[in-house]
Amino acid sequence: MITIQPHSSEKIIHSVDKKDLLVEFSVFLPADAVLSEPEQLKPFECDALSAYQCLPWIVLLPDSVEQLQKILHLCYKFGVPVLARGAGTGLAGGAVPLDNGVLIAMSKFNQILELDAENKMARVQPGVRNISVSQAADPYGLYYAPDPSSQIACSIGGNVAENSGGVHCLKYGLTTHNILRLKIVTMEGELVTIGSHGLDGPGYDLLALMTGSEGMLGIIVEVTVKLLLKPQAAKVIMAAFDDIEKAGAAVAEIIASGLIPAGLEMMDQTTIKAAEDFVHADYPLDAEAILLAEFDGLDAQVDAEIKLASEVLIEQGAVMVKPAESEQQRQKMWAGRKAAFPAVGRISPDYYCMDGTIPRRHLAKVLKQISQLAKSYGLVVANVFHAGDGNLHPLILYNANNEGEMEKAEALGGEILKLSVDVGGTITGEHGVGVEKINYMCYQFSGEELQLFHAIKQAFDQKALLNPGKAVPSLHRCAELGAMHVHNGELAFPELERF
Ligand SMILES: Cc1cc2nc3c(=O)[nH]c(=O)nc-3n(C[C@H](O)[C@H](O)[C@H](O)COP(=O)(O)OP(=O)(O)OC[C@H]3O[C@@H](n4cnc5c(N)ncnc54)[C@H](O)[C@@H]3O)c2cc1C
Repeated sequence: MITIQPHSSEKIIHSVDKKDLLVEFSVFLPADAVLSEPEQLKPFECDALSAYQCLPWIVLLPDSVEQLQKILHLCYKFGVPVLARGAGTGLAGGAVPLDNGVLIAMSKFNQILELDAENKMARVQPGVRNISVSQAADPYGLYYAPDPSSQIACSIGGNVAENSGGVHCLKYGLTTHNILRLKIVTMEGELVTIGSHGLDGPGYDLLALMTGSEGMLGIIVEVTVKLLLKPQAAKVIMAAFDDIEKAGAAVAEIIASGLIPAGLEMMDQTTIKAAEDFVHADYPLDAEAILLAEFDGLDAQVDAEIKLASEVLIEQGAVMVKPAESEQQRQKMWAGRKAAFPAVGRISPDYYCMDGTIPRRHLAKVLKQISQLAKSYGLVVANVFHAGDGNLHPLILYNANNEGEMEKAEALGGEILKLSVDVGGTITGEHGVGVEKINYMCYQFSGEELQLFHAIKQAFDQKALLNPGKAVPSLHRCAELGAMHVHNGELAFPELERF
């Protein structure tokens, strides 16, 4: 377990007395919406990256926009940092609290405010669970496309803050492509509407800027999502390979052939065995890798796409291509993929889930390099990921009870992130940066670029009170790490101390 706090150059120092602040909050919040006792604070000390923890200073549970505005206005006035929390399923430590800040739990904002089937949109509060939107839209033959594997638990507010993806995002886009309008409250307490219910809005595209901003620019209080018509048919094929690099190359070739599967997922041998043992999905245990490719749309179109995809996969060296013969078999094939993370949890005391994205054409090469890196660290990596979007999820297996093994897993994870950057990809897959990957932002971006990010933040959050110490590193942090880019031997920001 690592107790986490922002780097000293990112920490917001204030001298506000906790008791005084609690009295201020109690004026407009009911007693059960203000938590400050250690046993009340404990459930909020981490998100799903549970190795990183910090007991929050104060937790508040507002249930109206007016209450939230008052909280933010007060914190702004006193210079107290603030963090919004959705369902706490984040995997990058984005919702790890601050020991001198206010954590605002958004769980009471849990209403679907409007479902407009005619215009295929829904207006929802941020605490609504992802899957609840599709469930509410189902009677109208509609659904919400972005489907993170955590969709039974994660909130729409968290999805927007992380720009979450899922199996269907290859064809239907990430969260950012599936929302129309946001209402946010700024750090000063102002309610602002961003985007519109039309296809375009005037001015800069702040909707895109807000999506994926990890709670650092404003707190989301309402999201208008797009709804799609449920497809007439959906069919899946499974392809087995005797070589993981061939499977990687096949992914690139499927897309190059003009096909856009509704989902294109890959699992390596370690994951196949773990998943098969757990859910009995009829996966071939001797395969080095399998691909699951799903196609959806009209019946005839799906059949034609399945035929073409099968041909491409065989050409690329698949030793077996098997379409699901029934809806039951299709569900079974997907059940293995969906249960892959918990399945891997059964074969290793601990695992560390990395998340980076690379250009698809480098999949084969990068998978080979990951396996070589893992060997050099003496660790095993299980690969299960959204292959179609090049979004890697290497699961690094380790045992936290063995001294130094967690640090080794973290170091290997760092090497994999750097590898993603080196091939033209990014350290941000779908899980955001949070605290987990903040140091690698220094590797990916130059000092000038980071300064630009800080300037954008300042335009929204003048005192830098929203979720400090996450996602965008200070230049001091980067200088200390020695990871800031050096161009032509010229050290960026020579005035900064290096340690
Ligand atoms: C088993 C498992 C599988 C997962 N699979 C996927 C996957 O397939 N795809 C994927 O993208 N992710 C996945 N995740 C990660 C996670 O579920 C997503 O990042 C999700 O969007 C987080 O939502 P949350 O409500 O839990 O947010 P939290 O974890 O509570 O918060 C995440 C970030 O969002 C900010 N935030 C939350 N609510 C608000 C708000 N109202 N306003 C402003 N900022 C806010 C927080 O400050 C924090 O920075 C998975 C996680 C788990 C545990």
